This record gives sequence, structure tokens and C-alpha cells, in this order.
Amino acid sequence: MEVPDPKMNQQARRGKVFLVGAGPGDPDLLTVKAARVLGHCDVVLYDRLVSAEILRLVRPAAELIYVGKHEGEQDRVQPRIFDLLLRHALAGKMVVRLKGGDPLVFGRGAEEWALAREHGIDVELVPGVTSAVSAPGIAGIPLTHREISQSFAVITGHCKEGLAQNWADYARIDTLVILMGVKNRAYIAQSLINAGRAADEPAAFIERATSERQRVVITTLGEIARGRVAAENPAVLVIGNVVRVRERLVGTMETVQVI
Ligand code: SAH
Repeated sequence: MEVPDPKMNQQARRGKVFLVGAGPGDPDLLTVKAARVLGHCDVVLYDRLVSAEILRLVRPAAELIYVGKHEGEQDRVQPRIFDLLLRHALAGKMVVRLKGGDPLVFGRGAEEWALAREHGIDVELVPGVTSAVSAPGIAGIPLTHREISQSFAVITGHCKEGLAQNWADYARIDTLVILMGVKNRAYIAQSLINAGRAADEPAAFIERATSERQRVVITTLGEIARGRVAAENPAVLVIGNVVRVRERLVGTMETVQVI
């Protein structure tokens, strides 16, 4: 890792952007490199899903800038993020762009990387533990399992970004992992049933994975399609027979939440 020397004159040194994954929430799931970069940086631009415990690892003298987006704000907030990234890096600062999970999984990380590069700014990626794999895992749901699942897909449930019309194609994959799918859950489940998935196929929501308020809801595709399953953001939705493995790994299958 090439960390700019903070003692050097700001004008004389070249700024740099570290695109850092914060993992699913528990600070113990940060990479060693992410923790090291946070302890050395000048500026941190952080997202909504980055936990307070992780922000405590940032060098005390560094400037912390919240750039989280709520639904519908993406188009307004993203240009501000681009502007802040460029401004601080071009001023010679060591800038951390801190994102939940892995920066390149539905995080627009690649767009920020490309923009910085277009302006001659060095970018270093620090991959993170994505919620797509870790949230199900922590809940005792492996995405692959011998004889049960040979494939998985990670899909956005946010219709604007996602290709909602592709549910029929995704339906052929053994395990489906859906991020940002809470709001459209009934529509997604119904689309998968229409595409041939069984209504009694097990499904799970893992909410706020790795935090103290983690909650796991085990249900079926049919119950979700009928609008009978309560779920709160942030949550990962897993669909497939691998959900049944949970019983053997953690000894419990929470019951469906009926609303
Ligand atoms: N880059 C992130 C994903 C960003 S999209 C990653 O790799 O994890 C945001 C979505 O991620 C949320 O809507 C939710 O579906 C999921 N998510 C992120 N953190 C989560 C957590 N701690 N628990 C459950 N879901 C989470």
C-alpha cells in the first residue's frame, strides 16, 4: 500500500483515492488494510450503511463527510460525491471513499474510480466483505452446497437499476440473492413464481446482518408474493433450497412474520 506521507507539504504531495469496502457492519469484519487506510487518511466520504464503530477507527484529525443517499436522492447526491472526491484528491489529500460491503457490488464504486482516473488521480481498491455472501452465511445459509446448489446470482431488487423483466432468466439459477429488494419483495417473489419457481420454496430475509439488531426471517416465496412477510432495510433476501441448511447449522428455523 502506498500511503501518502501526512508530514509532507500538502501541495507537494499527490492526492490519492482509496475505494474502501467497510464490510456488512461489524468492525471486526473490516479487512486489516481497510483499518490501516482509515487510520492514515485525511478525508473520509462515507455512506449510510457504514457503522459508527467503523467510523471510530478513522484518524481523529481526518475530516468525516457523510454522503449517504436515501431512496430517490441518488441523482442529486452523486454529483456532490464526484465533486468532493476530486476536490480533496486534487488538493493533495488522501481520500477514503468508504462504502458498505464491497465497493464494487451495487455501490457505483467503478464510476467514482473511473472519474478519478480521468482526472489523473491514483485510485487503490480495498475490497470488502460483501453482504451478499456474508449476511446469508452468518445466518447459517450457504449460497452453495453439494447436491443442493451449484450456482448463485446476486441481483438488485431496485427496479430502476435492475432489469425487472429478467426475473424469468434469473429463475433458472439455484440460489438467488437479492439486495435492495425489501420494497419490491412481493413483486419479485410473484415474478419468480410466474417464471416457474415453486411457491413453497424457502426464502429468508437477513436484516442488519452482523449488527446487534440482526434479524432473520424464514419464509417461502409464496408468502412473500402474498405480501405477508414484514421486512426492514437493510436486508438481504435469499431464495433457494439452501435456506433449509440453516436448521442443521444453527438449529433453528424462525417462523414467518405475518403482517
Ligand atoms: N456494496 C454493498 C451493497 C450495497 S447495496 C455490499 O457489498 O454489501 C445496499 C444493499 O445491501 C441493502 O439494500 C441490503 O440489501 C444490502 N446490505 C448491506 N449491508 C447489509 C447488512 N448489514 N444486512 C443486510 N443487508 C445489507
